[in-house]
Amino acid sequence: MNADSSLHALEEALKVSPTNIPLRLHVAESYIHLGRYADAIIHWKALLKLEPGNLDWQVQLADAYLQNEQLGEAAVVSEAITQASDAPPLAFLVAARIAFAEGDLRTAVHHYKTAIDLDPDLQDEVLDDQLGIGPLESTSEISEGRVRFTHDEEPPAFDIEIERPKMTFADVGGMDDLKEEIRLKIIYPLQNPDLYEAYGKKIGGGIMMYGPPGCGKTHLARATAGEIDAGFLSVGINDVLDMWMGNSEKNLHELFEKARRNSPCVLFFDEVDALGGRRSDMNSGSARQIINQFLAEMDGVQHSNDGLLVLSATNAPWHVDAAFRRPGRFDRVIFVPPPDRPGRAEILQWMCQSKPVKDIDFQYLAKQTDKFSGADLKAIVDVAIESKLGEAMKTGKPVPVTGKDLSQAAARHKPTTKEWFASARNYALYANEGGLYDDILKFLDMK
Ligand code: ATP
Repeated sequence: MNADSSLHALEEALKVSPTNIPLRLHVAESYIHLGRYADAIIHWKALLKLEPGNLDWQVQLADAYLQNEQLGEAAVVSEAITQASDAPPLAFLVAARIAFAEGDLRTAVHHYKTAIDLDPDLQDEVLDDQLGIGPLESTSEISEGRVRFTHDEEPPAFDIEIERPKMTFADVGGMDDLKEEIRLKIIYPLQNPDLYEAYGKKIGGGIMMYGPPGCGKTHLARATAGEIDAGFLSVGINDVLDMWMGNSEKNLHELFEKARRNSPCVLFFDEVDALGGRRSDMNSGSARQIINQFLAEMDGVQHSNDGLLVLSATNAPWHVDAAFRRPGRFDRVIFVPPPDRPGRAEILQWMCQSKPVKDIDFQYLAKQTDKFSGADLKAIVDVAIESKLGEAMKTGKPVPVTGKDLSQAAARHKPTTKEWFASARNYALYANEGGLYDDILKFLDMK
C-alpha cells in the first residue's frame, strides 16, 4: 500500500472514531512528512478542538501554516503561544522563522535567541545563515538583531550580515513629510547624481532622526532600504562600543567598507548619542579617536561614499556631539513625533492587514489613541490578538479580532511617549541652540 492509500484508510478510520488522538496525531504528522501541509492543518485544528490548551499542537499548527505560506494565520497562532509563560522552546524557533518570512529580522533574532537559551539543541544552521549571525557561542548574546559579545572575549571582525528588506515606504503608516525629506535628501541624489551636480548641489551627508522611542525611526530606515532595493546594515552604537573596545576605529572602517562594497546600501546607526554619552566611561583619548574615525568615514575622506545612504537615530539628540551635525555629515536633523491621527489610522490598518479582523473603525481607534507611538499601537494589536486566541483554539480556526477588542486594549494601555516629552521639553526650552528643537515645542503647542 503506498503512503496515499494508507493515509486514506486512516482517514476512513478517523471518521469512525474522530476522537482517537494517537491516530489523528499520526495522520497529521504523516501529512507534514509528505509536505501536504493543508491536509495537516485540518488535523492539527481537529486535535486542538479536542485539547484547546495543548501548546505543542498549537506550535505544530503555526508551523504548518508557515509551511503552507499562510503567514497571517501562522503569525496569529504563534504570537499568542510565545506569550504564554509555559511556551515550549520550539514555539520560539517557529516564531523566529515566521518573523524572518515576514522580513522582521529583529523579532526573528529575538525569538531565535530565546529558543536557543531554552534548548541549545534547537540551533539551526539554516536560520543561523538567514539571520546572518553565525553559529551562537554560549558566551555571546544576541540583542535586537545584533550580536553582542562579552568583554573577556576576543571580538571577531565585524560580521553583521546585510539585510535585504522587502518592506517599502508603503509599509510605513503616516510620516509623509519625513518620507519626502528622505527622498529629496538621499534617494533622489543617489538616483540622479548628475542632475544634482548640474544644479551645484553637493551630494552626501546623512539624516539624523530623533524622537520618543517606538515611533518608527528604525522602521523608516529599513523601509528606505527596501524602497530603493538597497542593502540594509543596522548597527547599535552601544553594541559596537561594547564589542569593539580597543579596536573600534579599524572595525568602524570595516563596517563602512562593507557598506561601500555592497552599495547601494543604507547604513543605519541606532543610539548614535552613545558616541557622545559614553565619553565619560571611556578613556577620552580613545573616544575622540572613534568620533574622528566616524566623521572621517562620513566625510568620505579616503573612500568614496557613492551609493551609501547614512541614517542615524537617537532618543537623546542633546547628547550627540555637535561635530556630527556639520555639513556633509548628519546635516539634516529630523524630529520623528508620535504619529498623528491619520497616521495612527494608517498604522493600525497596516498592522491588521494580514490578520483575521472584522468590524474595525480605524478612525475611531485613531481618535482614542492620542500620543500612542507605533510600538504602543503594536502592543494593543498584540494584546487584542492574544485575547482572541483562546477562542480560536476552541473553534479550531482564527476568530476575528474586532474593533471592540482593540478599543478595550487601547483603554488599558498608557502611551509610552509621555515620559520622553517630559524631559525633551526641558531641553527644548533651555538648550535650544539655533532652534534645533523647535519642532518639539511646536508639537507641544508651546511655540
Ligand atoms: P527606538 O527609539 O526604541 O529604537 P524607533 O523609533 O526606532 O524606536 P521602531 O523600532 O521603528 O521605533 O518602531 C517600533 C515598532 O512600531 C516597529 O517594529 C513597527 O512595528 C511599529 N511602527 C512604528 N512606527 C510605525 C509606522 N509608521 N508604521 C508602521 N509601523 C510602525
